Amino acid sequence: MKIPFIDLKANYLSIKDEILTEINQVLDTTAYILGSKVQNFEREFAKAHQVEHCIAVSSGTDANHLTLWALGIKEGDEVIIPANTFIATAWGATLCGATPVFVDCEKESYNINPELVEKAITPKTKAIVAVHLYGQPANLDPLREIAKKHNIFLLEDAAQAHLAEYKGKKIGGLTDCASFSFYPGKNLGAYGEGGAVTTNNSDLAKKFKMIRDHGSSQKYFHEVCGHNYRMEGIQGAVLGVKLKYLDLWTQKRRIAAEKYKKLLSDIEEITLPKEMSYAKHVYHLFVIQSPHRDELQKILTEQGIGTGLHYPLPLHLQQCFKHLGYKKGDFIQTENLAQNCLSLPIFPEITDDQIVFVSNVVREFYKAKVLC
Ligand SMILES: *Cc1c(COP(=O)(O)O)cnc(C)c1O
Repeated sequence: MKIPFIDLKANYLSIKDEILTEINQVLDTTAYILGSKVQNFEREFAKAHQVEHCIAVSSGTDANHLTLWALGIKEGDEVIIPANTFIATAWGATLCGATPVFVDCEKESYNINPELVEKAITPKTKAIVAVHLYGQPANLDPLREIAKKHNIFLLEDAAQAHLAEYKGKKIGGLTDCASFSFYPGKNLGAYGEGGAVTTNNSDLAKKFKMIRDHGSSQKYFHEVCGHNYRMEGIQGAVLGVKLKYLDLWTQKRRIAAEKYKKLLSDIEEITLPKEMSYAKHVYHLFVIQSPHRDELQKILTEQGIGTGLHYPLPLHLQQCFKHLGYKKGDFIQTENLAQNCLSLPIFPEITDDQIVFVSNVVREFYKAKVLC
């Protein structure tokens, strides 16, 4: 059985007619950039996340940059981020000329460890970026307390966590601001690049909007420095259609994750993802840990099963950050995870048969391992 890591084609086919109608309307009205489809999507996306403002932008990476830029982060400032995340979390700080300061993750949640955040604060620290990694919210309450105590900003990188919840509330409006990605493989994916910024702060929202569009709110009058971070009309149309299904698709991801957990629970050698008591996990990724990761991945690949590694090399050990002086052993939890993590296929359209097949391959692998 061939099982892709993610099946974007199956997803497209399930909504094809609606998508084509909406895209046609963009073409007919020539609203190629921003426009009513994007505005409509912004309104609905904000509503879905129980937050006041949503500003649609050109990518999640751009959202990470734009938020810190609008908050005045600059050269000489430090921004605390997890070592265990996708590289784009760090670009927010570096594009502002600031220094990313890495912090290890927690053993169970895989998200940034608040106790270690407190220790990483210096007089130069201006912001903390919490990442809701793999779809599970970071523990925001202690982070909020630290941010308040030191009078610094707290942001969410919610690129992997659309519709996730922290203590019963949707993420995206629980800190100063949040950034989202609509990269095609994300839980809510565009048909190209896309991202968004959300906030409950009206002044900030105004700044975000200006920076997105050349620092202006009136064409050819530029109040602040900015950039072109606008969303395309076609992406707004696609996202508007897909957002209507996101709740259902999220439920399907959660059901798939529970099935995996049930089928794999008795295999002692592997560690399954844990949903924390404060979190509603949206399973952007289903990440297990195995001490025989590379062997297991090879067997899965041979059986036609797509897998991924999130992430094989932590940020503090990346070549691009060599000048920051981190070394192996600095962040044990993150480094262990990099060595043992394996992401199994998960997407809304995955079938029971596919989940059973993947689980059986994992089981057979460990049965054979015990015998030899
Ligand atoms: C995908 C992702 C981003 C970047 O989003 P793009 O839209 O691809 O630029 C940022 N942060 C995290 C945690 C991500 O997973």
